[in-house]
Amino acid sequence: MAPANHAHGPACFRAWLEPWGRLGTVGLYRDEAVVLRTQKLGEADRIITLLTRRSGRVRAVAKGVRRTTSRFGSRLEPFTHVDLQLAEGRTLDVVTQAETLDPFAGLMGADYERYTAGTVMLETAERLVVEDKEPALQHFLLLVGALRAMCGDGRPPSQVLDSFLLRSLSVAGYAPSFDACARCGLAGPHRWFSPASGGALCATCRVPGAASPAPQTLTLLGALLAGDWPVVDAAEPRQRREASGLVAAYLQWHLERGLKSLAHVPR
Ligand SMILES: [Zn+2]
Repeated sequence: MAPANHAHGPACFRAWLEPWGRLGTVGLYRDEAVVLRTQKLGEADRIITLLTRRSGRVRAVAKGVRRTTSRFGSRLEPFTHVDLQLAEGRTLDVVTQAETLDPFAGLMGADYERYTAGTVMLETAERLVVEDKEPALQHFLLLVGALRAMCGDGRPPSQVLDSFLLRSLSVAGYAPSFDACARCGLAGPHRWFSPASGGALCATCRVPGAASPAPQTLTLLGALLAGDWPVVDAAEPRQRREASGLVAAYLQWHLERGLKSLAHVPR
């Protein structure tokens, strides 16, 4: 094959494999997504930041979405779980169809504690998925699962949030240790905890400024990470608050810039 053909290689072939739209346009694709954020664009449009099942984080334009007559209605509001058709664009893709799968926006907006905790989840998901269009299936599944748990089973939003944050950080490569020493690996339990060091620390590895949480708080943190709900349910309110504080400190340490939305979560 002549080198000149390379420019028309994989991308062209991929476009050929995509379903053809009604007008025979190439570059249309379908995906499932959670709306993370929206920003105004021009008179009536918005840029929608999505976490998709297959393509990771995608930024796409929704044309006319701010008009009252928009065919998208409220389906492209933050939190909503949608089935989308998008057209590949030169810089940003364009949303051409949207169907609601889970109306999380209405459910999350109905409760202040849920809304503030959910906002932290959306912001965290956007920040931990660092590249656009790089598949991030685990992050997507965690987010949809956490939104379902928050809207469904009556568990306090702060518990769902803490569990989501610990699991998301683990998927992103920042798995904390709550038992073995994060520095030397010595089996725990240990008395000290340092977000900067990656979790629990033994007496030898202890660093200045390390917290010394109650032993039950470290057990609770391990249960939140593992989704061991009977252990979470048995925890005292004081340990839940302490655990939430350590999760917040751990998250803030591992994100380059702090998370503004975290300050609004009632603890
Ligand atoms: Zn150690």
